[in-house]
Amino acid sequence: MTKYETVIGMEVHAELLTESKQFCGCANEPMAAPNTHVCPVCLGFPGSLPVLNGKSVDLSLRTVLAFGSKINTDCIFERKNYFYPDLPKAYQISQRLLPLGEGGFVEIEMPGEDGTTQLKRVGLHDVHMEEDTGKSQHGQELSDADSSLIDYNRSGVPLLEIVSSPDMRSVEEAESYMNTLRQMLLYLEVSDCKMEQGRLRFEASVSLRPHGQEEFGTRVEVKNLNSMKAVRDSLRAEIARQTQLLDSGATVTQQTMLWDEVSGTTQPMRSKEQAHDYRYFPEPDLVPLQIDEAWLARVRDSMPELPRVRRERFQSALGLSPYDAALLTTTRDIADYYEATLQSLDKADGAAKTVSNWVANELLGRLNAENKTVVESPVAPAQLGELVKLIGDGTISGKIAKEVFDAMFESGRDAKSIIEERGLTQMSDSGELEAICRRVIAANPKAVEDYKGGKEKSFGALVGGVMKETKGRANPALVNELLKKQLSQ
Ligand SMILES: [Zn+2]
Repeated sequence: MTKYETVIGMEVHAELLTESKQFCGCANEPMAAPNTHVCPVCLGFPGSLPVLNGKSVDLSLRTVLAFGSKINTDCIFERKNYFYPDLPKAYQISQRLLPLGEGGFVEIEMPGEDGTTQLKRVGLHDVHMEEDTGKSQHGQELSDADSSLIDYNRSGVPLLEIVSSPDMRSVEEAESYMNTLRQMLLYLEVSDCKMEQGRLRFEASVSLRPHGQEEFGTRVEVKNLNSMKAVRDSLRAEIARQTQLLDSGATVTQQTMLWDEVSGTTQPMRSKEQAHDYRYFPEPDLVPLQIDEAWLARVRDSMPELPRVRRERFQSALGLSPYDAALLTTTRDIADYYEATLQSLDKADGAAKTVSNWVANELLGRLNAENKTVVESPVAPAQLGELVKLIGDGTISGKIAKEVFDAMFESGRDAKSIIEERGLTQMSDSGELEAICRRVIAANPKAVEDYKGGKEKSFGALVGGVMKETKGRANPALVNELLKKQLSQ
């Protein structure tokens, strides 16, 4: 253990999944050809007036409800003033004094010392609505090294900023927080969370303090984190840098640092602005946002089951292990697929576990190998359900089922038609199997002798022989029974 305790807070910006921008009708498509989705409002022309996007409020409300935040049903927008080329109005419409949500928490899971899972609440300071800025690109990012490009497609895209309290005490906790938050936003369908496109962005603030000290140390903000790995690596580097400073008796300066992926270090960007540097004042072009009970009720009704609740239900109601439940609730689509498959079956005993194995091992395995999501699965839930049914009623063996599944995955066809076409039905006719067993016994005198001499293992060779002759179609339980009977004669 080092001398210092790490204190981490996170600011998260999520671009919302609306069709249009926050205050104008332009399409929310920041990745389109540069400057193709712009208008006088998002270009900040004098005299243009913003109109708030209702869908964006719905999505923001869904998020604060999920966090259990206090909702300010009368909230206001403010102007945050600063100059930057990607901010054509020279102010960003944001919220400060009365944000949409205050407080609330995200519950993260951490491995406990005794192997159990410990829950920890990371408190939220506030959740507020704002708009994104444009995007500048310079030199080597473009084909022309001497030019700069300012793309305003992103200018005015609805943004939700989620500000945590400094409640995380390790890089692992910060990582768990990011993963949990991302999974929640995906379940809530408020953002597509594509970090590589900047649709979800993290900023961390880090400080150190001697163990046992209550007062926080000086914090440093780290920006330019465009992947989970960047957050992890930058936090480690920043903790090491501050540790070294403190150990040598120097002080940490409050500032904003940029993560440099190439050198693996954080580099100073500017001294940190204070809130008063932005000269916040109420946005005069927007009336206060008033959310009535009916609006809230409508959003509440649209809330999905959240990941952790679903995970716990998979364990308690379906009897899945914590590992399987976590795997099958990784995304809402996977959990939906699993449940749809289960619903297509009569609730036979063990179906939950059998289907879980098929989805987790065979389906997700194949999908991952082909870089596809479960939505793109060539095998529909009902088709997988039918396959499981055909194993259950003895039509095909578990071994053959894998071959059938492969064919289903490649062709998208039903299990039944593949089984019929390939003649794969399980052989459960004891007359036919008896004859095959006899032939295998006659052809393997050595194995028979060993088995009779007490070598149990040799029995497996005889079963294998029958399976080979029947191309895996023989009912294994019946083969065991017939072989034993014939060998005891
Ligand atoms: Zn616009």
